[in-house]
Amino acid sequence: MLQFECECGNRTGFFATGARDEQGREYIDPEDDDRVTFMIGDDSVVFRCSFCGHRYRLQRYPEAEG
Ligand SMILES: [Zn+2]
Repeated sequence: MLQFECECGNRTGFFATGARDEQGREYIDPEDDDRVTFMIGDDSVVFRCSFCGHRYRLQRYPEAEG
């Protein structure tokens, strides 16, 4: 459903866990957490490639809330 692919060729997918939060949004997890780790901050999520160490930042925008 969602695919992470680093510029080094490392890739892994995210799968839906089937669990939902109170607003009906389904949780996702990486298929292989040895390939990518992610850190959730106040205003962004940072994905870090475990192969080459490259980091990608996904910014949070207020209008995307909810
Ligand atoms: Zn990489």
